[in-house]
Amino acid sequence: MPDHRPLLHQTAELAARYLEGIERRHVGGLATREGLLSALGGALPRQGLTPGQVIEDLARFADPGVVASAGPRYFGFVTGGALPAALAADWLASAWDQNAFSWVMSPAAAVVEEVAAGWILDLLGLPASSSVGFTSGATMATFTGILAGRHRVLSRAGWDVQRDGLIGAPPLTVVLGTEAHATVLSALQMAGLGSGRARRVDSDEQGRMKPGALRSLLAELGDRPVLVSAQAGNVNSGAFDPLPEIVDAVRAHPNAWLHVDGAFGLWAAASDALRSHVDGVAGADSWTTDAHKWLNVPYDCGVVIVRDADAHRAAVNFGAAYYVVGDGGVREPGSWVPDSSRRARGFAVYAALRQLGRAGVADLVDRCCALARRLADGLRDAPGVAILNDVVLNQVLVRFAPTARPGDGPDVDTDVDADAIDAFTRRVIAAVQQDGTCWAGGTTWHGMAAMRVSVSNWATREADVDASVEAIRRCAASA
Ligand SMILES: *Cc1c(COP(=O)(O)O)cnc(C)c1O
Repeated sequence: MPDHRPLLHQTAELAARYLEGIERRHVGGLATREGLLSALGGALPRQGLTPGQVIEDLARFADPGVVASAGPRYFGFVTGGALPAALAADWLASAWDQNAFSWVMSPAAAVVEEVAAGWILDLLGLPASSSVGFTSGATMATFTGILAGRHRVLSRAGWDVQRDGLIGAPPLTVVLGTEAHATVLSALQMAGLGSGRARRVDSDEQGRMKPGALRSLLAELGDRPVLVSAQAGNVNSGAFDPLPEIVDAVRAHPNAWLHVDGAFGLWAAASDALRSHVDGVAGADSWTTDAHKWLNVPYDCGVVIVRDADAHRAAVNFGAAYYVVGDGGVREPGSWVPDSSRRARGFAVYAALRQLGRAGVADLVDRCCALARRLADGLRDAPGVAILNDVVLNQVLVRFAPTARPGDGPDVDTDVDADAIDAFTRRVIAAVQQDGTCWAGGTTWHGMAAMRVSVSNWATREADVDASVEAIRRCAASA
């Protein structure tokens, strides 16, 4: 074997230097495609380089295009950073280069996944006997949950969808709230259920599914097979669907499956103060969450959890003569996800949970929510600013009106029409991104343009929020 030590030390040095400087970087970065291409592109040269040269060049040339999304003032999408132990474990996972498909390929990966899965079920308050799969993200987790549900409701209707597919199958109705995350539609598309065929249930002003409307729709559907997807944590407002009522409505139907998309919101269960948001969640059949968002594990890692392990395994498992399966009682990590060969994601999840402990996970969740409230409060009294959502979790929606007197929000400013406020809001978002103190993206909420802030990083502190509030107010005042 070559001496790996100099290269890995060099890489550790580059990574440490990056992380030391992350708070001073322009958060969004100012790279252009042309600039990156001219530094990194061109035809593949005939001659190779030494590994050290490759890494030095990559770190230098990619740097302008690296977004400080791991840093404490990145509030875009729903983006966690990387906890130190999780980052380091992820390096080990690459050095070990384990294939987390089967027990024989890596007993360590298999058992670490098994342990991390148990910890997650415990933290999220989900049935301890549920099966768990570690996917590339929430999208694939939802896809897997939908496949498990599709399997179970169709098998109850006398149809083997794994063997016979969907052509000629009994009709299956999918029911979603109007606020379901776009990736649920993508999962339906991949599952052959169609993104456009789902029946949509109205949501209230915070984006929560209306349970009365769900009950009437399920009654109308009689006893045909139904898949319902609810959500814990609206990607804009952070709001939770009323899970106890949704669970009751779904349980009253003779052949319905309830999936819950809680990509970040399910982690509310880890906090004493926030747990009531997910009351009833354990009554569902399958759940999606992410480790690469609020748990602050490096990309990529989603988690699918299914109460009915047989349906879960049947939906994604496959066999081949040369796949040696472990001795009885061994958990096969590849039996719970659509992939076969796969990254050993469990190591980083295990390390994140072990670093934080139960108290640390609760503290991370509570702290992010307190910081989201602090950010909302810091902006609320700025001229022309309106906070559009109840800040119940870590998400804040902000709208900016152009001509405002102090204390006026966009709603009360009758001199300015909605289109002008939309345009101004987008200008403020662009100015904030250009400024580089922090980064927040845009969204549309009830037809209105809004800035969306998500506080999901373990490293964010009050000073980061205060500096960001100051920058956003400055951008709004001069946009
Ligand atoms: C982020 C998110 C997803 C998609 O997650 P990926 O990990 O990007 O696949 C799905 N649902 C919700 C509510 C999300 O916030």
